[in-house]
Amino acid sequence: ANQAQRKPDWLRVKLPVGKEYAHVRGLVDQHKLHTICESGNCPNMGECWGAGTATFMILGNICTRSCSFCAVATGRPLAVDTDEPNRVANSIKLMNVKHAVLTSVDRDDLKDGGSIIWAETIKAIRRDSPGTTMETLIPDFKGIWDNLYRVCEERPEVVSHNIETVRRLTREVRIQAKYDRSMECLQRISEFGLRTKSGIMLGLGETEADVLETMQDLKTAGVHVLTIGQYLQPTKNHHPVLDWIHPDQFAFYKEKGREMGFKYVESGPLVRSSYHAEKHLFDF
Ligand code: SF4
Ligand code: SF4
Repeated sequence: ANQAQRKPDWLRVKLPVGKEYAHVRGLVDQHKLHTICESGNCPNMGECWGAGTATFMILGNICTRSCSFCAVATGRPLAVDTDEPNRVANSIKLMNVKHAVLTSVDRDDLKDGGSIIWAETIKAIRRDSPGTTMETLIPDFKGIWDNLYRVCEERPEVVSHNIETVRRLTREVRIQAKYDRSMECLQRISEFGLRTKSGIMLGLGETEADVLETMQDLKTAGVHVLTIGQYLQPTKNHHPVLDWIHPDQFAFYKEKGREMGFKYVESGPLVRSSYHAEKHLFDF
């Protein structure tokens, strides 16, 4: 069924306005930063930017992968910008960000998978804003775990890697990714002793049984924090929305997640992996 034409009422959000929003907008533009908020046309920009938070995307804005849900451009990325760690750290300082969320495009073209810039960015933020905590939303580094550990060694407060969808749909939704490799990535982060987080989008054609299986797999991998949200189609060329998941169904998954023993579950139509990220700094 193609139900994608009209969004249900519970997905209507306020337009971004206000002073704080304008302030973040100005800094992002002035420092030529990339945010996933904009690339992903996130419906929460009014709320998050209005509260002074944004999710910075590093390693450029061209990805070597082409996930069918994602609005980030695919292609041959530009050369690595070695000044980027300093620019991001400087902006986080100017914005007085208390909890910074960082993500990157996938750089399968680089030997280090971008992990050197990742580590340098974390170091630069620690240097310029010693009181700021961080969540790093990282790629699978193609299973080259030395690259993963280069990031883990900087000990960001939260490390996330999104499984994005259920096992059955992974090939269709994340063509260059592998479900088991992503699970292994999460398990290694967790075994490293870091707060570990992952996210799933719903509405891509998964069943309830599929979702519960993936939740259980994430729990088994040692994931502590789980986010579950409604997939929105960024353009007509992206994966269609096959279902609008009702808020009650999100509440059901939240309850199930608690029963499974996750430390924190955010589950709702507008939930994004970086939504309310500052709440995910639970005590070990
Ligand atoms: Fe940006 Fe995440 Fe907030 Fe969306 S939920 S506006 S991506 S910080
Ligand atoms: Fe988008 Fe990440 Fe997939 Fe690249 S790897 S296309 S940034 S979701």
